[in-house]
Amino acid sequence: MHFHIITIFPSLFNSFLSESLIKKAINKGVLKITVHDLRKWTSDPHSTVDDRPFGGGSGMVMKVEPIYKAVNAIKTKNTKVVLFTPRGKRFTQNKAEQFSKEGNIIMICGRYEGVDARVEKYIADENISIGSYVLMGGEIPAMAVIESVSRLIPGVIGKDNFLETRVGKDGRFTEYQQYTRPEVFSPNKGVNWKVPKTLLSGDHKKIETWKNKKKKEVK
Ligand code: SAM
Repeated sequence: MHFHIITIFPSLFNSFLSESLIKKAINKGVLKITVHDLRKWTSDPHSTVDDRPFGGGSGMVMKVEPIYKAVNAIKTKNTKVVLFTPRGKRFTQNKAEQFSKEGNIIMICGRYEGVDARVEKYIADENISIGSYVLMGGEIPAMAVIESVSRLIPGVIGKDNFLETRVGKDGRFTEYQQYTRPEVFSPNKGVNWKVPKTLLSGDHKKIETWKNKKKKEVK
């Protein structure tokens, strides 16, 4: 799987790519991630990537030409082109599963007041929103998509059973609560936060029943 990120802030990805499981997956060759500076595809002395919106309005809009050139230069035969926009379709676990089967994904990160709508219309295969809120740019969405898709790619995370999580009908994950040592944590004198007894019982049948019950509970 090869992710290509088109951004005007490539250095935002420095630590993201050099830590933890993403770094390991890159080193193992299971994952390839290339960060492209959009300004490389500008042709004026100021490397301009934005301009004022037609019809008026506040802020600046990212220009179509540099994005078109960047995508054309990067794209190969089997490449999915994704634009991040709060107007896009909501990103879900199902979408992550679909993306994990792609060979190459180009992700376009918007900034300012967004991206010229011709990118959404003519260049992107999918317009994706990671939630009904507005961020300052598409870089955090790109990281969210990379993490959720990568953990579905064999060899990226250690154990296959990490992949067991499933989405319930209400869109929430049916995951049970987890505990680790100590069995009792006392944040203050006389206050004891305990691990549920069942989990310490060693009775696998009871533990399984407890887990299934807890999957449905939320605070
Ligand atoms: N005026 C734009 C609008 O309301 O659609 C907001 C642009 S936002 C400040 C700048 C960029 O951040 C967007 O072009 C997009 O790439 C990214 N972005 C912001 N919120 C997002 C979200 N919820 N999902 C995906 N991308 C988002």
